[in-house]
Amino acid sequence: MNYLPDVERYAKMQYRRCGNSGIKLPLISLGLWHNFGKIDDFENCNKVLQTAFDNGITHFDLANNYGPPAGASEKTFGQIFKNNFKDYRDELIISTKAGYTMWEGPYGDFGSKKYLVASLNQSLKRMGLDYVDIFYHHRPDPDTPLEETMSALDLIVRQGKALYIGISNYKPTEAAKAIKILKGLGTPCLIHQARYSMFDRWVEDGLLDVLQKEKVGCITFSSLAQGLLTNKYLDGIPKNSRAGRNLKNGAITKAQITEGIIKKVKLLNELAKKRDQSLAQMALAWILKDGRITSVILGASKPAQVTDGINAIKNCHFSKEELDKIESILKK
Ligand code: NDP
Repeated sequence: MNYLPDVERYAKMQYRRCGNSGIKLPLISLGLWHNFGKIDDFENCNKVLQTAFDNGITHFDLANNYGPPAGASEKTFGQIFKNNFKDYRDELIISTKAGYTMWEGPYGDFGSKKYLVASLNQSLKRMGLDYVDIFYHHRPDPDTPLEETMSALDLIVRQGKALYIGISNYKPTEAAKAIKILKGLGTPCLIHQARYSMFDRWVEDGLLDVLQKEKVGCITFSSLAQGLLTNKYLDGIPKNSRAGRNLKNGAITKAQITEGIIKKVKLLNELAKKRDQSLAQMALAWILKDGRITSVILGASKPAQVTDGINAIKNCHFSKEELDKIESILKK
């Protein structure tokens, strides 16, 4: 293990308490949905993770199905963890999830106890870990009783395979129900993981209120709208960008990058310049201005994107005029 993390790393980041728990998360976390698959350059993955940790990012977010192929991101992470971070395990919050299709047959999807327990066992093997810090149910299951799914999460914690439990993509009413069941089981819900960006604001419609009332943390994803809320697509679609790579599995497509959207992005970019921020920084800061948000999970295909994103935390304050301007741009 030759890697020595920056000794100043904790001075570079700020941390927020996650709901009513003992855990603090960095304002910016790092996600491994894309850029850590078999198709990606291993040395670049290594550098992205090192850059993150060197800047005080203590939280890495994974899922069973991240790749491609599914499982590959956990494998890549496992190798890099072994080479670099083994000695720093107690400084890290590592999360994974299950909920989307993972293997063939009736037991490799959604929210049965059978699926969740088996999937986490597989994830731990791929990552070479004894436990994860947070295990999430990745999406609600319309058919399995919520009691079964929540009792699977409770079991996993009692087995010592996860320290904390989270839910993801649950609507406000479903989230409230899940939180109540988990409370009854004695394994409180730590956190909800939700998509939230200037372009996708569904969490403002009830979810954030539920989480605040229940003192559950909120961690957001795709807060750069998969790269749209950066300067990347201002002059066309670069070949090596997420949209340009024609990826599958929910990745942004060329068709989603319309003239109308780019018009808004250009106006937002002008406002970001006036704030002395890159557009990516302003988009992340705009999420973090709300104290109910514990952390934003950033996706990054290069180390420079990590360092750019992290600088968002230097200015998360918006004047009323700036907020009004953003609203008027988004409504155009
Ligand atoms: P983002 O919205 O942060 O998009 C990340 C992409 O934006 C990067 O891959 C890169 O694109 C581009 N980018 C990042 N920083 C910059 C920059 N400074 N300048 C220019 N471009 C930049 O988030 P993701 O959609 O990747 O999601 C983040 C994480 O959230 C995931 O990795 C995962 O952990 C989690 N997630 C959870 C989900 C759930 O259902 N619970 C669903 C989706 C994500 P490019 O590759 O083109 O360079």
